[in-house]
Amino acid sequence: MRILRAAHLGMCFGVRDAISLARAHADAGPLTILGDLVHNPTVLSALEAKGVAVAQDVAHVRTPTLMVTAHGTSQRTLARTRALGLTVIEATCPLVHVAHRAVATLVRDNYHVVIVGQRDHVEVRGLTGDLDRFDVVLEDNDVLALEAHPRIGVAAQTTQPVEKVRHLVDLIRRRFPQSDVRVLDTICKPTKERQSAAVEMARQADVVIVVGGRSSNNTRELVTTCARYCARVHHVQTDADVRPEWFDDTNVVGLTAGTSTPDEVIDRVEARIRQVRSVAVTEGRR
Ligand code: SF4
Repeated sequence: MRILRAAHLGMCFGVRDAISLARAHADAGPLTILGDLVHNPTVLSALEAKGVAVAQDVAHVRTPTLMVTAHGTSQRTLARTRALGLTVIEATCPLVHVAHRAVATLVRDNYHVVIVGQRDHVEVRGLTGDLDRFDVVLEDNDVLALEAHPRIGVAAQTTQPVEKVRHLVDLIRRRFPQSDVRVLDTICKPTKERQSAAVEMARQADVVIVVGGRSSNNTRELVTTCARYCARVHHVQTDADVRPEWFDDTNVVGLTAGTSTPDEVIDRVEARIRQVRSVAVTEGRR
């Protein structure tokens, strides 16, 4: 049995930079993070141990300094924080800023904005927080519930799967053939790389292990993507979740991880797989 790591996996630069910034500011003084910095319990409990607080709303912040996560926020929320006299540290990923600029372009050009993403995700709330009218779609039924608009502008949450966005855009175009439908590609490069590397890995694997937080959107999307190419896919948060019986009759174990999963968590999962079986490691193609 051998382990095949996906060529691109794990933490993206946006999340990595945001965590470094949070650690540095936590050492300097009391800090509150607006929403989850990352959807990974290992990272969150390490920050909690440093005394970092998390608030889901600006009104609940009790420290003089507030940090906006890599997922970004709206200008309206930033204005509220400043009005409360809070010092704001922005860890918004540059690729989330790209998505915000795409939405602003669609609004400027008089398109009705439709976001492909999860309505309650902090990034989607940030992308739509300055808009008075918009729609968010994630499933076919959401598209069927849309009202007609002469101009429809589509952008996506940065971590959505490319195939899902294409499918929903096709559906929007078929449902509103009279409308001018404009699509701006806002899925980030690390997400695309992880998804295509996961497909390449899953095609060769008998069993796939996906490492990441249960509430991590992109980790769950990786599970769904891998399941299209491999019948035995398991989602684990840590090495403690790995079950020896998963590897019966297995030649190749594929390994991938969501963009919020730290390297050390992935390494511990790999070590645990090696521990339950005697394996040789093969790196994925880069
Ligand atoms: S998933 Fe993409 S957009 Fe989000 S923080 Fe990572 S690199 Fe940035």
